[in-house]
Amino acid sequence: MRASPSKSPQVLNPEQVLQGLHPLMLSGSLLLSAAIALQYVGQWRVMAWVFASNALRILINVLLSRVLQHRLPPGVLEWIRLTVNVSLLAGIGVGVGWSLLLWSYVPFSMFWLYGMNGSGRGRALVYILVMDGAALLSGCDPREPLAFSLLAVLCFLMTEKRAELLQRSLEHIIEQREQIAQAQDELRMLHERALQQEKFSSLGMMAAGVAHEINNPMAFVTSNVSSLFKDLKQQPVLDEPLKEYVDEVLPATMDGIKRVNAIVSDLRRFARGDPEVYSEYDPNEEAKAAQRIAQGQLHHVRVELDLGDVGRVVGRPQQLVQVLVNMLANAGQATPPGGLVRLSTRSGEDGIRVEVRDTGTGMTPEILHNLFQPFFTTKPPGMGTGLGLAVAHSIITSQGGHIEVESAPGRGTCFILHLPRVAHRTSPGAAGRAPEPPPPLRSIMA
Ligand code: ADP
Repeated sequence: MRASPSKSPQVLNPEQVLQGLHPLMLSGSLLLSAAIALQYVGQWRVMAWVFASNALRILINVLLSRVLQHRLPPGVLEWIRLTVNVSLLAGIGVGVGWSLLLWSYVPFSMFWLYGMNGSGRGRALVYILVMDGAALLSGCDPREPLAFSLLAVLCFLMTEKRAELLQRSLEHIIEQREQIAQAQDELRMLHERALQQEKFSSLGMMAAGVAHEINNPMAFVTSNVSSLFKDLKQQPVLDEPLKEYVDEVLPATMDGIKRVNAIVSDLRRFARGDPEVYSEYDPNEEAKAAQRIAQGQLHHVRVELDLGDVGRVVGRPQQLVQVLVNMLANAGQATPPGGLVRLSTRSGEDGIRVEVRDTGTGMTPEILHNLFQPFFTTKPPGMGTGLGLAVAHSIITSQGGHIEVESAPGRGTCFILHLPRVAHRTSPGAAGRAPEPPPPLRSIMA
């Protein structure tokens, strides 16, 4: 299913709402003015007075809303509008002896002229006071201004309340739209992540296959070279070239073979796709394995292994290797030639502490802030997936540990893993789930 983006509802400000009401205001005004004028058919002077005053009033209102609207601040415009309307209406009121039809202007005005903004209440009050004052001073029966003013106030309050409720429901709709958009983003992210995992698992299977293919020939290469070495060593007398083989070439070859075998076995362990069971392991052995796997990314730097006496712990060793390989590879990529990458392990009070420290580029606060977000990467397209640390965080927290990061631009980075001696048991594959919120960055290098 494909969601198409729809237009987002716009929150209108009070002035925009008022503008939208202008056509209605104008027709209402024309209708009431015509009604007032028509009462005086025959009394042409009064009719002409009503007609002229209303025409002037409507003209000024139109002028204000069309011409001066963008030249004057909205507040000033409304006060001018108020002055014009209330003066001319009071004038008409005096001219027509405050006819009932004229009074109907007061509540009508409250609907559109003053509502919808903060200072509107002040203007509404002034409007009513001027109209009532003019009426009382010119001898109008006090019950009329009282009745219409009450009506006007009620109309005003209702308009205001209705506008407020509409505004609230609009805001609610907007909030819901934002939540839906957020949920769509999360869904898209999970989808992308699933695709990446699919790629990783194919890669893992491929790596396991390749490791298996290398493993078989390496078995007889190892056995044959060892036998040859043993046989040659047992010879009492050897020619000079053969002596050189026994003393230098074959031991070096056997070192190389040992290294290939170690990498192949690491690769096979690393690439195994099935959920790993909890087991007792030596973190130092896993640290060494991680270093061997990541060696390809660390050729240009000095690598130091500083492995303390950490004893044995219970958890998921392959996952620890996965985390360390990623951190070592990142460290190698961030560190210029000649720099240092140091992998150390220490025993702590509650568990063990594994550190991957480098003297590389370090990170800005912005990168640090996003570090554990899935798909966050600063590497060029094709070089980084932005998943390594998100998965690392998920793996470590699923075993009851946490990660601290210390970094500053130009001053290197240090990832510190804290793992309990006995890992918490979460459901298998917890590390593959969407990561929990990123861990706090506990300290930044001074
Ligand atoms: P990726 O390596 O695919 O980019 P990661 O989640 O492993 O994804 O890393 C995310 C980002 O964190 C990297 O793109 C990099 O900007 C930053 N980063 C990680 N480790 C280091 C480090 N040791 N030094 C500097 N930046 C690092």
